[in-house]
Amino acid sequence: MEDALRKIKDRISHITLESEQEGVGRVIAVRDGVAEIAGLSDAWYSETVRFETSEGEPIQDALEKKPVTGLLLSLNEHTVSAVILADAAQIKEGMLVKRTESLLSVNVSDDFMGRVVTPLGVPIDGGPDLPAGTAMPLERPCYGVLDRQSVNEPLHTGITIIDAAIPIGRGQRELIIGDRSTGKTTIAVDTIINQKHEPDEKRPICIYVAIGQKDVHVARTVAKLRDAGALPYTVIVTAGSSEPAPLQYLAPFAGAGIADYFLEQGKDVLIVYDDLSKHAVAYRQLSLLLRRPPGREAYPGDIFYLHSRLLERAVRRRDDLGGGSITALPIIETQEGDVSAYISTNVISITDGQIFLDADLFSMGIRPAVDVGISVSRVGSSAQTKAMKGGAGSISQDLAQYRELVAFVQFAQDLDDETKERIDRGKRLVSFFTQDEGSPLPFDHEALLLFAVQNGLLNEVPADDVPNTRDAFVSFITAHHPEIPETIRTTKEIPESLEKRITDAITAFASAKQTP
Ligand code: ATP
Ligand code: MG
Repeated sequence: MEDALRKIKDRISHITLESEQEGVGRVIAVRDGVAEIAGLSDAWYSETVRFETSEGEPIQDALEKKPVTGLLLSLNEHTVSAVILADAAQIKEGMLVKRTESLLSVNVSDDFMGRVVTPLGVPIDGGPDLPAGTAMPLERPCYGVLDRQSVNEPLHTGITIIDAAIPIGRGQRELIIGDRSTGKTTIAVDTIINQKHEPDEKRPICIYVAIGQKDVHVARTVAKLRDAGALPYTVIVTAGSSEPAPLQYLAPFAGAGIADYFLEQGKDVLIVYDDLSKHAVAYRQLSLLLRRPPGREAYPGDIFYLHSRLLERAVRRRDDLGGGSITALPIIETQEGDVSAYISTNVISITDGQIFLDADLFSMGIRPAVDVGISVSRVGSSAQTKAMKGGAGSISQDLAQYRELVAFVQFAQDLDDETKERIDRGKRLVSFFTQDEGSPLPFDHEALLLFAVQNGLLNEVPADDVPNTRDAFVSFITAHHPEIPETIRTTKEIPESLEKRITDAITAFASAKQTP
């Protein structure tokens, strides 16, 4: 027995977990797409590695014809673990692993616009190959406080209720949150479509990141953007529900890398993360593979850090550093309106406000189903144009009061005339803010409409007729007074000289309606 033990000890005494060669390690185990590696004790967190046979032949990915890459996401005492970013079946025990001393990056170029790519920057829309481009790291330190300037330029969504009551500024992070199928994606996509109304030099580059979505959903979004003419200024990054968890985890960071590329040219960028609930699930799955201890709701303990590091990349950069901005619209799905779940509270606390979508409003046909009472934008109003600010006035208060009133008089039998009138007014206002998907309005039309509503456009109009009257008024103005929206567009306000012209136009419109 002792003899046998001594023999074994002799055998293993020369085995060492240190590398035989600097920067080269060896795979000691592979499971669930994760390679455990010995001998890379100096490697960095988030560094990429390449695999080779024990003879030193590089392992190529059959599909993408590129070397198979591993991403080091776990640094332990004696070993490190790499997530294999390709078909893991090719990686076997005993293979060599080489450090690259570089962090994972995506190669970006201007040609990304109008394309659909994976988180590794590979096009999947059947279009031509993309040129080599500039390597943009997926993770990098975000801009510090001193490198930023305050948010003071609007990012118009084209959705009147949002631009009036919950305005978003360039460089802001605004969360879109709501239950399943309450119109979250629609708001984000319409916001992208609305950017076509911006003059070329002011139009943000848009990035839509789809995380864990079904391919048909992504295809529908791409088609919608294409039909609306929004594709030429948009990049779509997707890691679908059938892709492995590591790729879904990387998708928003790849989007952020692409956003950085355009920011460095001093451009404004709008990035949508659809959605971070699925992203959290992918990260949880990844962490289980890496055998990290689960925390609250079984999510790993650093999930807050993950999302804050992602959203901190939104920025309005100081002009002397090159200017530009990244506006982020993350999306979170709630269960039965519960915003107090772990991931939602995290993201609510990281962002500068939230647009809350209500399933009941949605099913009542009030779309977009924005609950103005609990939606906020903490920085956007300083970015609102004078024209919008003036028009929006007390609208969120009026809407909130109307809701309260309706709840209060629900069971009342007979109402006095004044209450009836207030309820009617509220109904008209709610109806005024309904907006079909795919029809975002340029901000001059929004401001004009808001002003017109405050000045009697809808008095006497039954609530059901409000959307038609609203649209007819816009057509009337475009046909007979195109200089009115034009002036709002250039001055960004409604000057006194214009006020009278608009009120006259409202009167003319009303009498034209009565005598068709
Ligand atoms: P999911 O939870 O599945 O991601 P979602 O919250 O992103 O859903 P959407 O896919 O945007 O919701 O919208 C759900 C459905 O409601 C879609 O069929 C969409 O066409 C419709 N819809 C959304 N907004 C509007 C609107 N303003 N007017 C009319 N239909 C709308
Ligand atoms: Mg959606």
